[in-house]
Amino acid sequence: MSYPVQKTDQQWQDLLEAKNAEPHAFEVTRRAATERPFTGKYEQFWADGSYHCICCGAKLFDSPTKFDAGCGWPSFDQALPGAITEIVDRSHGMLRTETVCSQCGAHLGHVFPDGPTQTGLRYCMNSASLEFK
Ligand SMILES: [Zn+2]
Repeated sequence: MSYPVQKTDQQWQDLLEAKNAEPHAFEVTRRAATERPFTGKYEQFWADGSYHCICCGAKLFDSPTKFDAGCGWPSFDQALPGAITEIVDRSHGMLRTETVCSQCGAHLGHVFPDGPTQTGLRYCMNSASLEFK
């Protein structure tokens, strides 16, 4: 898949380092790794603002859509229109919907149709993929 923002692995690594991103941010965003639950900096973080892609800065979520899913990862019930691209993910013997940044293809996490709010959606994100502003 092709995204508007393209960089080499080395460029992403340099950019994430310069941004002081979490050490595993490259593995998460560019290799679809998953951070350990209850370890991310935004899991229990409730300030007013917005969440952006750590790689390209695209705005993904507004803070009022964040909720405590109790799963150990920052969770949202709604993404900004067009901000996220969904991909069918059949890895690990499961059928899931992967979410990536529509601008740069950064892996963000997965979206599940079991959310407790009226949207019915639970965007289960890696803190390492996000930048709060
Ligand atoms: Zn991005």
